[in-house]
Amino acid sequence: MAYSRKLSTDSAQQHSGLNILGAEFEWQNGAACNIVKNPSIDPDWWYPSTGESREFDRKAKAICATCPIRVTCLAKAMENPDEQGTWGGYTEQERHALRKELEDDEG
Ligand code: SF4
Repeated sequence: MAYSRKLSTDSAQQHSGLNILGAEFEWQNGAACNIVKNPSIDPDWWYPSTGESREFDRKAKAICATCPIRVTCLAKAMENPDEQGTWGGYTEQERHALRKELEDDEG
């Protein structure tokens, strides 16, 4: 599936739940990180800066663990090795490790 870097580089859009990017992103409508449905969520939790990483990762993963579209979200991120932030409960580094593990299993 074609994937938009625009979405991946804008945490406010990715986790806004505003569905402003069109039908291609309708899969996100049920997202637990929808800040319209849950205003207490900070989209930056999915894109932590150095120094805030561990706490923000923990918060993002806790939300992802409750998300009904977690598998779809992770699959979308796995399609794009350059994807940043936490998707489907996996940080960028964890997805890299998972991708390598899957490649090793295939090899
Ligand atoms: S799995 Fe996490 S990042 Fe993906 S849509 Fe759900 S809450 Fe958001």
